[in-house]
This record gives sequence, structure tokens and C-alpha cells, in this order.
Amino acid sequence: MKEDSTQRNKVKGVKKWEIKPTRIRLLSQIVFLTISISMTFLLFSRATAICWADPFWHLQAFFANRGDLNTKLFIFEGLSSERIAIFSVVYLGIFIVLALLFGRLFCGWICPFGTILQFIEEISPIRNKLHFPDELKDPDLKYLVLLGFLILSFISSQEAFCEFCPAGTIFKGTTGHILYFSVTVFLIVVFSVAIHGRKVWCSYLCPLGAFFGLFSRIHIFGIRSTGECIKCLTCNKNCPMDILIAEKYIQEGKPIRDGDCIKCMRCIESCPKKILKFP
Ligand code: SF4
Ligand code: SF4
Ligand code: SF4
Repeated sequence: MKEDSTQRNKVKGVKKWEIKPTRIRLLSQIVFLTISISMTFLLFSRATAICWADPFWHLQAFFANRGDLNTKLFIFEGLSSERIAIFSVVYLGIFIVLALLFGRLFCGWICPFGTILQFIEEISPIRNKLHFPDELKDPDLKYLVLLGFLILSFISSQEAFCEFCPAGTIFKGTTGHILYFSVTVFLIVVFSVAIHGRKVWCSYLCPLGAFFGLFSRIHIFGIRSTGECIKCLTCNKNCPMDILIAEKYIQEGKPIRDGDCIKCMRCIESCPKKILKFP
């Protein structure tokens, strides 16, 4: 009897100190957001200081410069085109490998703009209080945005999306016409996210999210089920990206390999049967 209660206390102790995956993720988000904000303040006088850290900038640069990465980013000043190209290939390659392994982990754990949108979603007083048009709720739209801006970059020989990038409004100095486009898109995105959640940008529109989404459909370590699903649909209700987790994946016996799964871990924590596992 005494042994049983000690055992129970031990088990209780383990549970008390259990580290929740959503908390580790929050810590990661705070670290990357802090790094980004620090870089913005430290390098603010350089208009495009932080763009080098954006994987989508490197992707656009390939299309814009058609192989010759003769870049305007000051961080690369003094480097030869060849060296910049090598840096870009390695840098982008790291994120592609990450996406092949873990899907859109970048979106859920690293991206500072995604973190800001998540905070806006969480504190918004108008969440679900205003109507968001059903016609705009299309996760496939972001793939068209991705394709469109890569084609535009190729035709214009410029990193075309940078003119409209809402993240740029926060993380880099905005000047001239970029100010108007970028700030306008930013305000529309923030207002829409406040009504309908971060999925407005991260699921329907973001070209970088679309790029990682392509890999997320085939990535190796998808969230999977290890037990019997009771079809309560709690996971679906907690998914910020509106993925039909139970119907499309768990009940079909498939891992969640979805172009929109940002590995936020909410489904894992919310499942009352605790059958969802990652990796
Ligand atoms: S979808 Fe875009 S903005 Fe959202 S987290 Fe991913 S990269 Fe960042
Ligand atoms: S499927 Fe799970 S981990 Fe993926 S976005 Fe939805 S709740 Fe988050
Ligand atoms: S929360 Fe768990 S038990 Fe409920 S539907 Fe989702 S996977 Fe099944």
C-alpha cells in the first residue's frame, strides 16, 4: 500500500515536471523573435538588413538574377557573386532539408512574423466577431501567390515580393513606394488576422509558407497516431490551420503530412486519448 502511494507520488512528480511541447515551441518562437527585433534595431539604418535571413529572399534572388546573385543586400557587400551564390544555396538548402524532415517547422517554431500573427490572433478582441469572406478561405491560393511572385521576379529581375512583404514593414526600414505597398498589405493582413486568425496569411497567402508546404506534403516525420481514435474531433477544433486532422489523417491511419501543418503541437496536447505523437 505504502509502495503504491510512493509510486503514485513518483508518477505525479514526473507529470508535474513534464515539459509541454507547446512551451518549448513558445520558447523557440520568443528566441527567434528577439533575435529578429534585435537585428532590426542594430541594423535599422540599412534598409534591407534582415532580408538575408529570409529564405524566400534567397529563392526570389535565384529567379530575379537568373543564377547571378549580384545582390543589393549590404551584408554581402564585398563578396563575389560566386560566394553569395554558395551562401544562398547552403542557406536555402538547410531550410529545405528541415522541411523535408519536419514539414513547416519553420512556420511554427522559427518565423518571427508568424509568431507576431499568432500573438495578434490570441489577443484580438474582434476574433470571429466580424465576417471573413468564405471565398478567400482557400489554402491553395498561396501556391498561386508563390508561383506568381517567382515568375514576376524572373521577368522584372527584382525580388518582386519584397515590395509587398508585410513582414518587411516590421523588420526592415521601408522607403519610398515600398512604404505604401508594404504597409498597406501589413495593415490589411493584421486586420484580417485579428478577425479570422493567423491562417489568413499563413495558410491562404504566404509564399514562403507555400514553398515549405510543398515539402510538408511529403516530409518524413509527420505527427502520427499510436492508439485508437475516439473521433471526438478535439484535435480539429484546436488546429489553428483548420486541418481536418481526424478525418483526413488519423482515422485513415496516415501521418499528418499536410501542406498547412506548422507543427504547433496543439493537436498533440489537446487529444484526450494522448494518441498523437511527434516525431
Ligand atoms: S506562413 Fe509565412 S508568415 Fe506564416 S509562419 Fe510561415 S513563413 Fe512565416
Ligand atoms: S495538425 Fe496539429 S501540429 Fe499541425 S497545425 Fe494543426 S494542430 Fe498544429
Ligand atoms: S483528439 Fe485524439 S481521439 Fe479525438 S479525434 Fe483527435 S486524434 Fe482522435
